[in-house]
Amino acid sequence: NLAIGEGEILGSLYSKGIKPDGVQTLDKDIVKMVCKEYEVEVIDADPVKVEEMAKKKEIFDEDDLDKLQDRPPVLTIMGHVDHGKTTLLDYIRKSKIADAEAGSITQGIGAYKVSVTVDGKLQPCVFLDTPGHEAFGAMRARGARVTDIVVIVVAADDGIRPQTNEAIAHAKAAGVPFVIAINKIDKDGANPERVMQELSSIGLMPEDWGGDIPMVQISALKGQNVDDLLETVMLVAELQELKANPDRNAKGTVIEAGFDKSKGPVASFIVQNGTLKRGDVVVCGEAFGKVRALFDDSGNRIDEAGPSIPVQVIGLNNVPVAGDEFEVVDSLDVAREKAEACAELLRNERMSAKSGDGKVTLSSLASAVSAGKLSGLDLHQLNIILKVDLQGSIEAVRQALQVLPQYNVTLKFLLEATGDVSTSDVDLAVASKAIIFGFIVETLGSVKSYAENKGVEVRLYRIIYELVDDVRNAMEGLLEPVE
Ligand code: GDP
Repeated sequence: NLAIGEGEILGSLYSKGIKPDGVQTLDKDIVKMVCKEYEVEVIDADPVKVEEMAKKKEIFDEDDLDKLQDRPPVLTIMGHVDHGKTTLLDYIRKSKIADAEAGSITQGIGAYKVSVTVDGKLQPCVFLDTPGHEAFGAMRARGARVTDIVVIVVAADDGIRPQTNEAIAHAKAAGVPFVIAINKIDKDGANPERVMQELSSIGLMPEDWGGDIPMVQISALKGQNVDDLLETVMLVAELQELKANPDRNAKGTVIEAGFDKSKGPVASFIVQNGTLKRGDVVVCGEAFGKVRALFDDSGNRIDEAGPSIPVQVIGLNNVPVAGDEFEVVDSLDVAREKAEACAELLRNERMSAKSGDGKVTLSSLASAVSAGKLSGLDLHQLNIILKVDLQGSIEAVRQALQVLPQYNVTLKFLLEATGDVSTSDVDLAVASKAIIFGFIVETLGSVKSYAENKGVEVRLYRIIYELVDDVRNAMEGLLEPVE
């Protein structure tokens, strides 16, 4: 996926006296030369490695492949409000950190590391401290991919609720595997079987019933079966083969940032590749600086942090934004240059989001269909987020849309839920290039401007057939531009 035109590359080859005839395969050295000119990384096309790298979202480059080592999984807890996310996080933090470092007080740095016993061996894993899909979605909307596995908490006395659905939609859209924790089994009125039935009815079949979704019944309050849950999570992690190369300059994501009166700008990073060291020069988004001090999740000063490890960093000139990528560079000059380039890029992105360039809208879909240019535009699939007034409307709208002929464009429902359009829906739309359809719901003014800034189309309807007509026309390339 190069942002460079074919013609431009051909031109550059011609200027060097190389005349590709359009079908011949280019010599490897020539490819490397061209890529160098355009500052594009070359990957030797070992298909297995390439696929592996694609799966790992390009955190690695060629040099890393020989030096990869296992890294701990990074987990996020999601689920409906009051289903026990915070209680579970607290229980795990208290019980597991105490194991290793009795008496240490955890500092809120956005994530913490715990040790889990698997097959008699202690293994580390890392929990992000902000539960819920809002934080997860906001990070993804910025392009960050930090979480390896999601734990979705469902209360056994309540079952699937709107935010349960949203959490599942976010995890699925991100392609992140999840484990379900059926919580509060200690409570009167708890009915874990019923929850499992509900989950199977939306296509999540428990492993115990022959399906492929791991589910563990727990009481976060009492700590019952939490060890089982963690062990299950670690087994899922093992299948993921999570790796990184500790032996290189660090790269990763900002998970939290703020301003401290005595320390100045503070940021918490999760290192995703390499090792971050005191004295390194980092750049993250528009902020940069030399790392003056590093703190771990117990507030201890440390000298370095390797892959998956959360660390608080002091020394930046500015407060970065959660979800920004950080990287270590060679000098402050390089860092300053990159930070400025990033600021410039952000300005341009904001402008193009406002002007609608590259935005996924029904009209852009319609014009792509009528021009026969679907494949190049990622538009052969229309990703839909559907927000409706009542549970019953979900089926009605979905069925009406699903019967539309999908020759050119297939419809994919990322999320169907009741309630007004929220910023978290917008984040999901940004991260997954989706359009939001609202049926007899509203969009708050603040959400509306958020969507406009992010370049997300929100279409509100009060009559089903108007919604269906618009989608059908767009899919057939016939939609008249509105506005
Ligand atoms: P969150 O909104 O998902 O973070 O939910 P909380 O962790 O704040 O929990 C909401 C309420 O449920 C609190 O009063 C908890 O004490 C209670 N709770 C959480 N887990 C359990 C559990 O396993 N058993 C019981 N009986 N109560 C629980």
